[in-house]
Amino acid sequence: LFVTSLLNAAGLAMVVFLAFGLRYYSRREARMVAMQAAQSELETARDEADRANAAKSQFLSRMSHELRTPMNAVLGFGQLLEMDDLTETQRENVSFIMRSGRHLLRLIDEVLDISRIEAGRVTLAPQALDLREVAEDVLADVLRRSQEENKPLAISLEAPRELPRVHGDSERVRQILDNLVDNAYHYTPVDGQIQVRIHANSGEEVQVDVSDTGVGIAPEDQERVFERFYRGEHPLVLATPGTGLGLPIVKQLVEMHRGRIWMTSKGIPGEGSTFSFTIPRHQKSVGRGKNG
Ligand code: ADP
Repeated sequence: LFVTSLLNAAGLAMVVFLAFGLRYYSRREARMVAMQAAQSELETARDEADRANAAKSQFLSRMSHELRTPMNAVLGFGQLLEMDDLTETQRENVSFIMRSGRHLLRLIDEVLDISRIEAGRVTLAPQALDLREVAEDVLADVLRRSQEENKPLAISLEAPRELPRVHGDSERVRQILDNLVDNAYHYTPVDGQIQVRIHANSGEEVQVDVSDTGVGIAPEDQERVFERFYRGEHPLVLATPGTGLGLPIVKQLVEMHRGRIWMTSKGIPGEGSTFSFTIPRHQKSVGRGKNG
């Protein structure tokens, strides 16, 4: 009797064990099936988003090309008109056409640039680069401009002679600095200051700070300056033709170099802003846009 009940108990335990095992197994199985289904849905959604993104970039880049040609014609014929014998009112009208045309062309160029960068169709040609030379060029241009436009500003460069070279694409690094200095120029009223400071920082990078004494950026808006089409609310900014695409392009270009970019501003008029970026000194698989 004892042996029989022992066998019965063992049998029962076995049945219970099998039942639990089976339930556990089928639950696990079901969980795995659900997970696989979710993963494949996610992959499909991601592929669709990638395709839509590529189509959008291609559309933008084609459109921008198509828009550039007639825009160049408008500006070319506008320039011819400017040379004619015009009345004061006609001259003002032509100048308005030219200003709007240039603004539109810049917008087209920037949309083209950002869509090409995002589609991973911009490749860098990095080389050993002296940031001091780039900054000297950019500041010489802005100085000329301030004289031509009769907008006096104190423009200065601070960089040690023995500055290490960086690994960067000269044209694109110039574009980065050009854009930041251009903003400092536009958003700083007459008699203000623009200072570019270049120094090797403790990491393996060289850091560039572009400071101005301009209108500054309110603390609550500082996160947004790198967003596309952001222009803020300041009257001086809104009175200046702009696109709100300069900083997003600059950010992408810095990140393509594996550098970093950030800004600080007390948001107090006259205390201005400082935009800083870094470019690595050595090769760090610098290359393509976000897809590369
Ligand atoms: P844009 O200059 O064409 O408006 P950006 O993308 O270069 O576009 O800049 C976005 C916005 O960030 C500007 O419209 C302005 O509000 C703000 N900003 C950028 N640089 C400065 C600066 N140096 N001082 C004050 N505001 C700035």
